[in-house]
Amino acid sequence: MLDVLVAGAGPAGSALANATARLGLRTAIVDPAAGKPWRATYASWADELPQGVPLAFRSERTRAGALTEHIVDRQYAVIDNEALRADMDDDRIAVQQARALKAHHDREATTVLLDNGNRIRARIVVDATGSQQALLGTTRRRPPAEQSAVGVVIPLREQGFVQKDEALFMDWREKHEGAPSFLYAVPLNADEVLLEETSLADRPAMSHRELHDRLMNRLRRNDITLCGDERWERVRFPMDDPLPRPQRVVPFGAAAPFVHPATGYSVAGSLTLAPRLAQALALGLDKGEASRVGWRTVWPARALAVHGLRRVGLRVLLGLSAAEVPQFFEAFFRTSSHLQNRYLAGRCDLPGTLRAMTAVISAAPAPLRARVAALAIGMTSA
Ligand SMILES: Cc1cc2nc3c(=O)[nH]c(=O)nc-3n(C[C@H](O)[C@H](O)[C@H](O)COP(=O)(O)OP(=O)(O)OC[C@H]3O[C@@H](n4cnc5c(N)ncnc54)[C@H](O)[C@@H]3O)c2cc1C
Repeated sequence: MLDVLVAGAGPAGSALANATARLGLRTAIVDPAAGKPWRATYASWADELPQGVPLAFRSERTRAGALTEHIVDRQYAVIDNEALRADMDDDRIAVQQARALKAHHDREATTVLLDNGNRIRARIVVDATGSQQALLGTTRRRPPAEQSAVGVVIPLREQGFVQKDEALFMDWREKHEGAPSFLYAVPLNADEVLLEETSLADRPAMSHRELHDRLMNRLRRNDITLCGDERWERVRFPMDDPLPRPQRVVPFGAAAPFVHPATGYSVAGSLTLAPRLAQALALGLDKGEASRVGWRTVWPARALAVHGLRRVGLRVLLGLSAAEVPQFFEAFFRTSSHLQNRYLAGRCDLPGTLRAMTAVISAAPAPLRARVAALAIGMTSA
């Protein structure tokens, strides 16, 4: 029998399987896409990534635009996916290319049924299947709020949005008809830059067609022509997946859900927590309480409280008008970088999250303050 079965071989599941295998736990991972490259561009604040994560790019300077331009006092980094996957590969991890369908529990272990008919028995099962939450039995009460984006990779020298050592975290300054979107621009290496038109969160998601048209207009206005063989990135994922109820299967990564409702980021948090969760599971298995210890590591009370507050932040964002969203981010970027960091990182930082939210409200003009307060307490629906 296995010690640990991880469903899902994205960044979160792979990091966890690597960490449990290193501790000598008999580990397997199942994923229909196991072994396939990760195509998404994964980026994060550099200081949130664990030491040793291979990077394709690290900014010297990070800019953001709301109503005005701001310098964000933090380095931004793009992960080198291929090198990270190579670091995580470990012969001790058994890999099955299959979909996990169902988990059955008995007193000692959990049996997972796969779509190829196989059954795998493990002392603890972790669901890292992203927004599928395949083994967690979650249900949604309404359609998700989703982030969507369309990006194109072009030569760095052919654009003026960012210098070679800079990242543009978000720029809301261009006005569009309808819901707002922003430009995200980040070099991927010494020669190429990703320019991405992004809808931070919308219910229903802004369509890729709309985002593509907006991006093309933006490129045209900046005299950028495409040659036709560019690489494109299309992004769409939920920002408000349901929180699963505590159970024998332990959730991890975007399945948990770790996705930050203000940015959509989860990868840095998953890579950071993986070794700690592995340690907790190893101890828990010794004591026969791996699920309980696993859940406590993934969702300590403070992280749950912070998650609740961040979801309030998402409700506010979804309720603001196209004109109010840039005003809101103007207020956000006017707060100290220390508080910005505490809101954007710090998944257990309850006082920091509260102080950052209060600071944004104080920095907002009076009419926006009233709107934010009404949306936050649910007086106006989002
Ligand atoms: C294009 C794109 C760009 C993004 N950029 C960023 C970014 O820059 N920074 C950031 O932090 N986040 C980013 N995100 C958001 C989010 O963090 C990512 O979705 C990230 O991939 C989540 O990692 P994960 O390992 O938790 O889940 P996933 O990467 O979603 O991995 C889940 C895995 O589970 C597998 N799976 C699904 N169902 C089953 C099943 N039933 N049984 C077994 N396996 C199953 C899937 O095949 C997949 O391999 C981005 C998302 C997208 C789509």
